[in-house]
Amino acid sequence: MKKYNFNAGPSMLPREVIENTAKQILDFNGSGLSIMEISHRAKDFQPVVDEAQALIKELLDIPEGYSVIFLGGGASLQFTQIPANFLIKKAGYLNTGAWAKKALKEAKLFGEVVEVASSADKNYTYMPHGFEIPTDLDYLHITTNNTIYGTELREDIDSPVPLIADMSSDIMSRPVDVSKYTAIFAGAQKNMAMAGVTVIIVKDDMLDKAPRELPTMLNYRTHVDKGSMFNTPPVVPIYSLMETMRWVKAQGGVKEMDRRAKERAEILYGEIDRNKLFHGTVVEADRSLMNICFVMNEDYKELEKPFLDFAIERGMVGIKGHRSVGGFRASCYNAQTLEGVNALVKAMKEFEAQH
Ligand SMILES: *Cc1c(COP(=O)(O)O)cnc(C)c1O
Repeated sequence: MKKYNFNAGPSMLPREVIENTAKQILDFNGSGLSIMEISHRAKDFQPVVDEAQALIKELLDIPEGYSVIFLGGGASLQFTQIPANFLIKKAGYLNTGAWAKKALKEAKLFGEVVEVASSADKNYTYMPHGFEIPTDLDYLHITTNNTIYGTELREDIDSPVPLIADMSSDIMSRPVDVSKYTAIFAGAQKNMAMAGVTVIIVKDDMLDKAPRELPTMLNYRTHVDKGSMFNTPPVVPIYSLMETMRWVKAQGGVKEMDRRAKERAEILYGEIDRNKLFHGTVVEADRSLMNICFVMNEDYKELEKPFLDFAIERGMVGIKGHRSVGGFRASCYNAQTLEGVNALVKAMKEFEAQH
C-alpha cells in the first residue's frame, strides 16, 4: 500500500534526496568508498559542506555579514548555546509552546529571563501579537512555528533588540528577511535533512560579544572560524541537507515552497472546517501551514480511535496528535505532496459519510 507520511519530525523528505544519499552511502562519487568511511577533511567532502552553505545563503537570500554553520546536538543544544553566547544580563522569550518553554528554562541558567508574551493561558492555541518588546533585552527569542501546538508566526517581526528565532519546523518554507535576525537556528530533521545536523545562521558582528568565557565547543566563533570543521561534523546528514537544498532550488526555491504550503494548508483546513466530525485546535489567523492540528468534535469524541485506524488502513502515517493536544496532527513540510493531502481529505470525507 502507498504510504502518506505526515510524521512531525524526523519527517518526509523528497524521494530523490533519499535515493541520492543512499547512492553516496554505497559509493561516494565513484571512489569505491562509502561516504560513511571517508575523512570529513577529504577533498571530496569539503565541496559538500561548501555547496550546502552556499545553497542556504542563496535560497534564503542571506545578506553579507552572516555565517552559516552546521553543528550536532539538535535544536535543543541551541537552547543552551544561544544564551551562553548572547545572554549578558537579561533576555526576553516568547512563551508559545513546548519548545519555547524548554528554551526559556535553559536560558535561566545564564541570566535573567523575561516572558515578553505568552499563550500558555489558552494551551498555546494562538500566537501573541502586538506585544511590547522591552529595549533593555540582550535579545528576544521566538519560535516561529510551534510544532506541537500547530501555531505559526509566518512573518518577520520588527524588534528593537537582537532577534533570535528557532525555525526548526518552518525554515525553508517561505522567504525570510534574514536581516531582521541576529541568529536563526533549526534542527534539520523537519524541513531540511535527515536527523543529526543543526543549521545555524548567525550575524558575524555578534560573535565577539560573548559575555563569558565559553567552552570551546559552545563558542560559535570556534565553528565559524573552522567552517564547521572544528570537530567531525555529521557527514551523512550534511550530505542529505545539501541534496534537499538542491531539490528546493530545482523546484523554484522558497517562494514555491511557500506557495505549495499555502495550497496544501488551504485544502486541509478547508476540509477540517467543512467536515461535521472535526474542528481545528488553533485560532484561525495563527494556524500553522506546517503542522495542521485538529480534533474530533464533542459529539463524535468516541470516533477518535476509529478514525485513526481508518486513516492508517488507507496509508496515512504519523497523524496521531501529540499527547498534549490530542486528536490529530498532519505535518505538511516541504516534501509533503498534494497527493498525500488529498488522500487524507478523502479519508476524512469517507469516514464522515459512514457516520
Ligand atoms: C523539533 C524541534 C526542536 C527540537 O529539535 P532537536 O533537534 O530534537 O533538539 C526544537 N524546536 C522546534 C520548534 C522543534 O520543532
